[in-house]
Amino acid sequence: MADDAHTPTSPDTADLPSQTRFHRVMLKISGEALMGPQGFGLHPPTVERIAREVKTVHDMGVEICMVIGGGNIFRGLQGSAQGMERTTADYMGMLATVMNALGMQAALEQIGVFTRVISAIPMDQVCEPYIRRRAVRHLEKKRVVIFAAGTGNPYFTTDTAATLRANEMACQAIFKGTKVDGVYDKDPVKFPDAKRFDKVTYDEVLAQHLGVMDASAIALARDNNLPIIVFSLDEPGGLRGILAGEGTYTTVHS
Ligand code: UDP
Repeated sequence: MADDAHTPTSPDTADLPSQTRFHRVMLKISGEALMGPQGFGLHPPTVERIAREVKTVHDMGVEICMVIGGGNIFRGLQGSAQGMERTTADYMGMLATVMNALGMQAALEQIGVFTRVISAIPMDQVCEPYIRRRAVRHLEKKRVVIFAAGTGNPYFTTDTAATLRANEMACQAIFKGTKVDGVYDKDPVKFPDAKRFDKVTYDEVLAQHLGVMDASAIALARDNNLPIIVFSLDEPGGLRGILAGEGTYTTVHS
């Protein structure tokens, strides 16, 4: 797979910082981040570009957990809004996240990063079931662990799944990749005068409906004092820079 005109170029690792205070992190990306310029599904050059970003961090020795959403394929809420029974629609959404996880696994392994996809819904022919101790062991062996099928329960989101697994895996922070370089007081795409926060508390996010993650995910992070770092996925080398404490981002903290 190769880059195309729609995808930023891959980072030149020689120019990137090499030090980080993070030992183990959770990277949460939405399903929509994988669809690139398309309106739906997976765009292979975009998946490959994100995989290279992950590799730059893996090369620093950081242990990486990933959760990828499913919104590029199916969202339970959309299905139920169209009359589908909600729990069935949510299971379809969870299955969509498994497809995305497999796509990311393939892209990472193509560039030499060993991975395991671990699903909250057992599907033995496709990936491993979730067993916490086994997942920890994979991380210790420097495999990127991609947690698929969300929490395995309807009425949740992959933001909550990322927060849950980050706590279980004792991650030091959740890195939430978005289209913009942090949390703003209003949508910076629509409002040029939107103000970006360097830091914001969990309670401010909840009270002001700042849209970082859904409320259950924010509350779970707050109750376990797990920082959320919101950054732009569109900045080549951005993830590695932010892990080294450089670049522009917002930290959500207590
Ligand atoms: N989902 C679920 N339980 C979970 C995680 C996800 O039911 O623990 C379903 C839900 O229907 C959701 C869909 O999977 O809409 C896709 O996940 P999400 O909307 O979080 O994806 P993203 O917006 O990050 O792409």
